[in-house]
Amino acid sequence: MPTSHPRGLPTGDAGGPTDDAPDAHDAHGAPDALFGLDELRTGPEPRTSGKPLFRDSAEARRMLAVREIHAEPGAAASPRGKQILAAFPDAEVIPVDSHWRIPDLHGNKGNAERWVRIKSTVLVLGEKKTLTVRPNGRSADWIAPGAANGCAMACSYCYVPRRKGYANPITVFTNIDRMIARLRRHVVEQGPKREPNQCDPAAWVYDIGENNDASVDALISENTADLVHAFTQWPTAKASFATKFVNPDLLLLDPRGRTRIRFSVMPPDDSRLLDIRTSPVEERIAAAGDFLEAGYEVHFNLSPVVIRPGWEQAWAELLQHMDDVLPTGVKEQAAAEVIMLTHNRDLHDVNMEWHPRAEEAIWRPDLQQAKRSENGGWNVRYRNAVKAEAVETVRRLVAAHAPWLTVRYAF
Ligand code: SF4
Repeated sequence: MPTSHPRGLPTGDAGGPTDDAPDAHDAHGAPDALFGLDELRTGPEPRTSGKPLFRDSAEARRMLAVREIHAEPGAAASPRGKQILAAFPDAEVIPVDSHWRIPDLHGNKGNAERWVRIKSTVLVLGEKKTLTVRPNGRSADWIAPGAANGCAMACSYCYVPRRKGYANPITVFTNIDRMIARLRRHVVEQGPKREPNQCDPAAWVYDIGENNDASVDALISENTADLVHAFTQWPTAKASFATKFVNPDLLLLDPRGRTRIRFSVMPPDDSRLLDIRTSPVEERIAAAGDFLEAGYEVHFNLSPVVIRPGWEQAWAELLQHMDDVLPTGVKEQAAAEVIMLTHNRDLHDVNMEWHPRAEEAIWRPDLQQAKRSENGGWNVRYRNAVKAEAVETVRRLVAAHAPWLTVRYAF
């Protein structure tokens, strides 16, 4: 799920051909031994609940029942690639030259049922060649190189599909050891955080889910587990990802406070209209206590905030519900990002073909302004005055109904 997890404002490009330009700094990095990667490959012994894993359940298969895997040869031959192929023994494996060029999969041709079928039955395995750590400063201090891109869910405002198209299935990057080595080097280069900021008072925060939902990715591979484990070894840093999916298998990891999970929430009526294929908002909120107990830091993304008739009352009720049901422990450490809806003209056109009712809520030319993006498209956001007033309203509602919830930033 995107830094603000598509869950809101893009903090960077959803990737693209440039994403794979060789990075001289990383593509020929130091030997693995320098970074202790053998240890990272094995990771800690996972905790077990004694129960079957959620990823083997019928519910998990409704989200993802992989029948086709398009794999770059190097990715398929890698240790992580082999693990994934072994986990889906019945899937047909189709070799591809590049995870970026699979015309039959990507794009917006066809109807929504076809996209959802592709998202839920197809995987792509690739190797990430550019391992860039980008500054952010809002949701996190840094954006980590993504261990995946694409998503099995289909939120109507999501910016993740804008490069590959709405039919993009999840691409898993198999060279997780190189990503972790890159991150480790970056963490070491930063040293301790000298000044507290709104991202975190003490740790450098790295977003590990800019263009993916790490909870869903954990149904496929150990990439999320490896990242969670890696951050337990770096006392000056913390991982962070937003999610709209409750994956109980993540409770078996041992994050030791070094991973922040950010459950994205919005009024349930909005979510039912806009968050296609996600866990219900009530379920995300109900899971917060379990995740805290398992050793995660638990934050919330109040996002995206959609201005529609009755929105203030709906958010008041949501915040009141959070106040009613969240355990004290969650409240004591929770903070939130508030992210107003951003939209995109091309995405609007796509959505009009399959989900026009959603567009009634999120395409509001009377309230929005368009701005040319770096990619040449038109991004759309609420006009400055409208947005400023709405942000103030959300802050006021939080103060009134969930005063324990620190708003880290509102945008
Ligand atoms: S489609 Fe996936 S990545 Fe996009 S906003 Fe929804 S959950 Fe997040």
